[in-house]
Amino acid sequence: MSDRLPGFSTLAVHAGAQPDPTTGARATPIYQTTSFVFNDADHAASLFGLQAFGNIYTRIGNPTNAVLEERVAALEGGTAALAVASGHAAQVVVLQQLLQPGDEFIAARKLYGGSINQFTHAFKSFGWNVVWADPDDIASFERAVTPRTKAIFIESIANPAGSITDIEAISTVARKAGVPLIVDNTLASPYLIRPIDHGADIVVHSLTKFLGGHGNSLGGIIVDAGTFDWSIGGKYPMLSEPRPEYHGIRLQETFGNFAFAIACRVLGLRDLGPALSPFNAFMILTGIETLPLRMQKHCDNAKAVAEFLAGHPAVASVSYAGLPSDKYNQLARKYAPKGAGAVFTFSLKGGYDAGVSLVSKLQLFSHLANVGDTRSLVIHPASTTHSQLDDAAKVRSGAGPDVVRLSIGIEDKEDLIADLEQALGA
Ligand SMILES: *Cc1c(COP(=O)(O)O)cnc(C)c1O
Repeated sequence: MSDRLPGFSTLAVHAGAQPDPTTGARATPIYQTTSFVFNDADHAASLFGLQAFGNIYTRIGNPTNAVLEERVAALEGGTAALAVASGHAAQVVVLQQLLQPGDEFIAARKLYGGSINQFTHAFKSFGWNVVWADPDDIASFERAVTPRTKAIFIESIANPAGSITDIEAISTVARKAGVPLIVDNTLASPYLIRPIDHGADIVVHSLTKFLGGHGNSLGGIIVDAGTFDWSIGGKYPMLSEPRPEYHGIRLQETFGNFAFAIACRVLGLRDLGPALSPFNAFMILTGIETLPLRMQKHCDNAKAVAEFLAGHPAVASVSYAGLPSDKYNQLARKYAPKGAGAVFTFSLKGGYDAGVSLVSKLQLFSHLANVGDTRSLVIHPASTTHSQLDDAAKVRSGAGPDVVRLSIGIEDKEDLIADLEQALGA
C-alpha cells in the first residue's frame, strides 16, 4: 500500500467497506436481521454496558448501516457518524442531546420548509425554543444569543433559493457563544462543501436527496466533527454528566472526540427509535459510489438552465449562486468552487398564476416535493411546501408567490432547456 491519502472519489466507493469476511461478497451485504447472537454472557454484558463495541439490535446499530456511517464520516472529514431513518430524524436526535426543556437554539430562517415547521411546532412542544436569525446578516446571530442558547443551526446551501451561507462567519459567532454549530449539508453534499473544514461541529444530512441520489430511499445521518468540548460549564449534561442507564459513565470522558456520535446512538436512537432500514442503507451506499460524477453533472446542468432562464423574457429574476451576477456568487466561489449546487429558484413576471401554470405545462420535469433526484424536479413553493407560512414569512424564506423552485437532474441539458422553453412560451 502507498501512504497516499485516498481522494474523495476513492472514499466515495471504498470508505468503510471490506469484502464480507465469511462469504467474500464484494458489495456490502444487506444484513436484514433485527438482532445478533452474543458470544457468551460476559460479551452480552459488556456490549450492554458500552465496554465493548459490537452488534446488539438493529435499532441501535447494524453492519450495513455501519458501512454507510463510516463512509459519510470519511467524506465529511468527521470522527464518526450515525445513520437514522430520515433527515428530520437526524435533526430531532441531534437537538435532543443538546437541549433541555426551556432551552433555545438559533436557526437561519432560510431553511427547508419541513425544518421550519419542525422547529416551530414539534420542537416547541418539547420545550425547545427556536430563535430565527437572518443568514445574510451575521450580526443577527450574535444578537440572538442568550444564556439559554445551546446550538446554532444553518444550511450550507439554503433551501429553496440555493443561497450560500457564510459558514466561517457564523462559526465564529458559535465559538464566541460557546455553542456548537450544526450545518445541514443536504443541498451541497460533501462533494461541493465540507462544512467541518469551515468550522462546523456537527453536520446533518437528509440522505434522501443527493447522497442517495435516485429518489428511492429515505435516510438521514449525523456526523460528529469531534471538535466541541462538551464539558464546558455543565451546559450539555447528556454528554458531561454520569449516565444512570450506563453504570454512571460520562460519555465525553469515555469517548472523547466521538462522544457526540455515541450520545446520538445510545441516548437518542436507542430511546427515540428512528432506525434506518439496512435495505435503505444499501440503496444509499450504492448511490454514494457515484456522488462525485452525479454532483458535477447536476451542477453543470443547473448552471446552463439558470443561464437560459436569466435570458428569457417571461422570467423576472433567477436566484442561482453560480451566476456571476448573483448576490451569493462571491460566497459560492469561496465555499463551492466546483459548482453552486442544483437547487435554485426563479421568479416569473406573471406572478402566482404563471407559477402554477408553468408547473402544469412542464413534461420532462416532475412536479413533486423532493430535491436531489437524478430526474429534474419542479415545485411552486408558495402553493405547496411553504403554503403554511404567512405571506411575509414566505417572502423572508425565499418562497414568495411568484417563485418556482427547480432541482436539476442529470439528463441532457438541451432537453431540460427545451422543456422549459415550451412551458414558458405556451
Ligand atoms: C429533505 C430535507 C430535509 C428533511 O429530510 P427527510 O429525509 O425528508 O426527513 C432536511 N433538510 C433539507 C435541506 C432537506 O432538503
